[in-house]
Amino acid sequence: MERIKIIKVLIDPINVALDEPFRIAIGTKYSIENALVTIVLSNGIEGYGEAAPLEPINGENQATVLATLNSCRDFLTGNDISEYSAMAKKLKSVFWAQVTARCAIEMALLDAYTKCLDIPFYKFLGGSDNKVETDYTIDIVAPDIARINAAKLSGKGYRILKTKVGKNLTDDIDRILAIRDGAPGCGITLDANQGYSPVEAVHFLRELEKNNIHPVLFEQPVIKTDLAGMRFVKDHSFVPIAADESVFTSADAINIVRTGCADVINIKIMKSGILEAIEIATIARAANIKLMIGCMLETKLGLGCSVSLVAGLGCFSYVDLDPHIDPENEPFTGGPDYSAPYYTIPEDVSGLGIRRRQ
Ligand SMILES: [Mg+2]
Repeated sequence: MERIKIIKVLIDPINVALDEPFRIAIGTKYSIENALVTIVLSNGIEGYGEAAPLEPINGENQATVLATLNSCRDFLTGNDISEYSAMAKKLKSVFWAQVTARCAIEMALLDAYTKCLDIPFYKFLGGSDNKVETDYTIDIVAPDIARINAAKLSGKGYRILKTKVGKNLTDDIDRILAIRDGAPGCGITLDANQGYSPVEAVHFLRELEKNNIHPVLFEQPVIKTDLAGMRFVKDHSFVPIAADESVFTSADAINIVRTGCADVINIKIMKSGILEAIEIATIARAANIKLMIGCMLETKLGLGCSVSLVAGLGCFSYVDLDPHIDPENEPFTGGPDYSAPYYTIPEDVSGLGIRRRQ
């Protein structure tokens, strides 16, 4: 391939209002405040990347992401696009803690590079399947609303429903029972977002058993650093345990393997970047640990990239990539088609195939 250089790097904020506040056990978001990186190449091709910071999870916000991205512009400009991995490695050594900003750069580099090759990004990653099924998350709401939402979502075709737990045990059980009533045919995934102590988590599992609730997965029951506590929960659990906040890096994934504290690792590109997400997937596969993929609050751009990762690598048993933006407010277009619960990546896309809505 001829040498194709990066001639310009543009940084812009992405602001989108959310119809419904997004609540998890450690915080609430009322709007999406992300950032867009546009990499312009000497052949005229543009690559796009999104950063979706979620302060309580990764310590970044829109202001820090924009500052980091602006600091990276001079470093990126003038490089050959085929050296995307070397650029990402260097950025990681300097901005090791600014992972969502680095993820946006990796996304834009890989989008631009695979556009130069004129292949879909998911085929660059291996091209396992162009169809990806996702679950859908039911927020922390009153049981009556959860029941109605569960019935609606099941009617739309979703087969796995996820809900957040860890704030109040009685409310959590009531909501899960309501979801089961509303959608008896659906599997249920639970995510505590670090909300329980190890003993509380085991108590919670016993209460589930008493109520004859058998979730398909229980995510991050305890605080991310307490791997021994997570192992205690796993050893007393009839449900597979997933490590989410405990795994940002490939070294974290190795610690999960060494301590045997989880059955599943939840990968998110906004926790690890794209290239390290692939490394984590490799470690998990070698250790016979299943894989989940999740998201923060990405637009179609970031979600489309995660869908491509699943479609390309083809090793994800649990997919939690439900969109949170009303399609009318979505700032991007193209990429995977979404018809609940399936994403389908068109065969003829180049790169991620996603562009800004005019
Ligand atoms: Mg989670």
